[in-house]
Amino acid sequence: MVEIVELVHTMRQDSNVMKLVSKMLAGDIGEVKPTLDLSSELGFAYPQVESLLAVSSQEVLTILGLLADESVLQRQFHDKLLFCPHCRSLNLRPILICPKCGSGNIAKGRVLEHFSCANIGLEDEYAAAGKYICPKCNKELRFLGTDYRSLGVNYKCHNCGEIFSEAALKWQCLKCSILFTDGEAKKTVLYSYRINEEQRHLLGFELGPKARFVEFLKSQGYEVTERAKVDSVSKSGAGHTIDILARRDDGLVTYTIGVGIVIDSNGREIGLEEVFRFDDKAYDLGIHDKVLLVMPRLTHEAKQFALRQRIKVFEDKELETFLASATPSTRPQMKTEPFKFDTKAKLLEHLKNLGYEVQEKAKVQGRSGVEHTLDILAYNDDGFITHTLGIGIIRVNDGVNLDAVSLFDTKAYDIGIHDKVLLVSPNLSQEAKQFAQQQRIRVVEVEDPVKLV
Ligand SMILES: [Zn+2]
Ligand SMILES: [Zn+2]
Ligand SMILES: [Zn+2]
Repeated sequence: MVEIVELVHTMRQDSNVMKLVSKMLAGDIGEVKPTLDLSSELGFAYPQVESLLAVSSQEVLTILGLLADESVLQRQFHDKLLFCPHCRSLNLRPILICPKCGSGNIAKGRVLEHFSCANIGLEDEYAAAGKYICPKCNKELRFLGTDYRSLGVNYKCHNCGEIFSEAALKWQCLKCSILFTDGEAKKTVLYSYRINEEQRHLLGFELGPKARFVEFLKSQGYEVTERAKVDSVSKSGAGHTIDILARRDDGLVTYTIGVGIVIDSNGREIGLEEVFRFDDKAYDLGIHDKVLLVMPRLTHEAKQFALRQRIKVFEDKELETFLASATPSTRPQMKTEPFKFDTKAKLLEHLKNLGYEVQEKAKVQGRSGVEHTLDILAYNDDGFITHTLGIGIIRVNDGVNLDAVSLFDTKAYDIGIHDKVLLVSPNLSQEAKQFAQQQRIRVVEVEDPVKLV
């Protein structure tokens, strides 16, 4: 499974391969069949694919071979081509010869045996003026079964007299004239190709819904990396590969969505282990916006776990349904201008412009049961995931201390908010600044406290 996903990912980098496989999946091309092309060096071609991709026969052959080797396509015997071993010409003529002496001077016909002289010859050799006259003893053959008998239709060699039922085959090259046996001929087997039905739904997913999901994320202003290798931010220091990594910087915070893809090509339910592995990876990378694309579906247990870990799961056809109903983004294309704090009123306006729903002095109950008040709570709905941004305002005269930052962080944690911004006036102590950085709190220092009102 992993191999084919890797392969598809590689395939998608190659627009030609993509184009061909997509057309075949869609049924626009059912079967890719070779045709003879005596003018080409290969002697055959796949014109349908050549014109689709505008590449040479040799390149087409390479692409088809690769796809078949990787089980994306299935190859089937189509034909066998014989080439002259001397000049590689395909222009060959079959010649039947006597298996005894090798002469081409053979004829086929009904063979008669004259009992009295034991002559064996073709019917033509006996025929004379409406009668059968034996060419050896010149007697007339009168009665079938008494004078002579028929040995059936056979070959006779006029060179050595041999009678045989099967002639031997030789080839003559019409270009360089040499004769050679079938065994000496150069042979190439031609194949026709079809989509490997076993891979159809996986390929269909990779090239269909997944590709469209990536497009959707891009339309939402995300920068998308597929098969993203990440290690720089990993807590454990280990490197991870995330199927899709989507980042969006709205000037205030950067959202990172990690998308995992788990497909069972045999159609079995996906168990807890796979979901756990994805969640673990996301945790290690500090990604809390998690999406799992699953085919066909999760087990009940795995689903419960995903729900608890706040993983948005799309099973089976759900992604397609979502993508079909997802309205094209009205989100202004972010020109990641660095956020410049002006006044609180301007900040609220900025958030609304970015598509946030904003609440001031929001009362939220935390997981501990305690009710917290957040200065600003901003929600941003991507259609499938909602980002929650918590903004705290701290105003003090003589340097904001660590306790205030820690209190804000604890509150956010209890509510389950990961994206945190602190507006402080006038500035943080060095210690508090370090703590904020460690807790991934974006700090905006504002000189004039009046602007925070
Ligand atoms: Zn005779
Ligand atoms: Zn012969
Ligand atoms: Zn030849």
